[in-house]
Amino acid sequence: MTATAISVHAGPIIGGRPVESAGAERQDAVSPATGELLGSFALGAPADVETAVAAAGDAFEAWAATSVFERIKFLERAIVVISERREDLGRLLASEQGKPYRVEALGEVDETIEYFQSAIECAKRLDGILPPLADTAKRVLISRVPRGVVAAIGPWNFPLGTMAGQVAPALASGNTVVALPAPTTTLTCYEFARCLIDAGLPEGVFNLVTGQGAVVGDALSGHPDVQVVAFTGSVPTGLRVAQRAAGKAQLIELGGNGPTVLLDDADLALAIPGSVSSTYYCAGQNCIAAGRFLVHEAIYDEFAEAFTAAVRREIKLGDPFAEDTTMGPVNNAVLAGKIDQHVRSAVADGAKVLLGGERAAGFPTDLYWQPTVLADVTESMAVAVEETFGPVAPLQRISSETEALQIMQASPYGLSAAVYTKDLARGLRFAEKAPAGTVNVNTSTSSAEVHLPYGGRAGKLSGLGRTQGRYPMEDVYTELKTVIAHVG
Ligand code: NAD
Repeated sequence: MTATAISVHAGPIIGGRPVESAGAERQDAVSPATGELLGSFALGAPADVETAVAAAGDAFEAWAATSVFERIKFLERAIVVISERREDLGRLLASEQGKPYRVEALGEVDETIEYFQSAIECAKRLDGILPPLADTAKRVLISRVPRGVVAAIGPWNFPLGTMAGQVAPALASGNTVVALPAPTTTLTCYEFARCLIDAGLPEGVFNLVTGQGAVVGDALSGHPDVQVVAFTGSVPTGLRVAQRAAGKAQLIELGGNGPTVLLDDADLALAIPGSVSSTYYCAGQNCIAAGRFLVHEAIYDEFAEAFTAAVRREIKLGDPFAEDTTMGPVNNAVLAGKIDQHVRSAVADGAKVLLGGERAAGFPTDLYWQPTVLADVTESMAVAVEETFGPVAPLQRISSETEALQIMQASPYGLSAAVYTKDLARGLRFAEKAPAGTVNVNTSTSSAEVHLPYGGRAGKLSGLGRTQGRYPMEDVYTELKTVIAHVG
């Protein structure tokens, strides 16, 4: 399996079909793994957003009026089409994103299908309320109604899973959608969009625009005829989008740095395998990756040695299509530069490289970052407090549980955290206090399933609202409508 046969030319899909973009320019799509040209995509213009939002707005009334059981039939057909194209989608995803085909890309296609299955189940159970009234001459019906046009803006690390997680519940609950993929994974999202169109979705119910976020994303998030903005991406962009979308319903999913706390009684045999997988999955480009380790001084040296040995043994950097590869290149040059900078400055400030520490030589591109373990990391280093988003495990010493909680309180992030202790009651008490949307006890920061609520802790910068399961449908994609009738 290789990337060589791929040639996709993507652009807007509006009103049920691919259309010419109003933007005159195109951008090449290049594989981060091989440097090969995979195709190109249209650099869309704000006029594309106008057309797409108008198409979604025109389609909304009829789609919202369709029964949930009718809408579900379209989603079921989408599952069939995505399943039929599983290997093609996985191959394109591995080529364009850089993740290993066998151990990650196919799994993301499967997760995409799970988001549709979950949306189907939850949409059928979106109940209304019939409360009693003080005035016996009246009756009240409180029902959940779709909000309208949803702007779905996604990142490049899990382009299919994230887009499906935004789009499936939005469609199932009766909204129409205009989606914008991240530039470096546009081809994959375009092929996903074609699956929805080929599943027979009515014209205008799902639309895609392509191009640069600063152009098309800006136009989309601030558009007056968009009622909901679902955004997954970085903190700076998310803050801008949230401001542009003021007054609209918002579902904002941002970054994290996955503090993994090992208390003095942590079971290392349990902690190490999950932590290795969580740190290096998707080359660390995961918002819920184990991005930093806060390790009690009593077990620090033992953990550092055993963790490093496990990484050396388990993580095989290589071509995403090689059978034994467990980690591919990082997705883009901007990110690779940020990882360089975080690691170099940490080392300059006293961190010790236990493994890796630089990009790997001998690959077709310079985007292959070695699996890296850094010891003696301190709170003053960017690699500890920011989101490095690369295959780096920074190990920091702590002297108490209280210190771990203080470090987490001081962090701007609050998405996912993990704590390891042999005392379950202690772990649960820690979880109650830990400031994160999800806290995993004796399992890694990446423990998640598509039906569980997922999002950032209030007051932090990891986002607003909850994706997954029934939560986005109830909280964001629908609103309560109250009808009071005088019945005499
Ligand atoms: P990014 O913010 O650079 O881009 C995300 C999307 O925003 C892209 O589609 C981009 O085109 C668009 N965009 C850019 N400028 C815009 C603007 N002015 N207006 C509207 N849209 C604009 O993020 P990224 O680098 O693609 O993704 C990585 C980030 O995403 C990481 O921080 C990661 O933690 C986060 N992430 C979070 C979750 C979660 O569920 N919390 C999941 C995956 C990724």
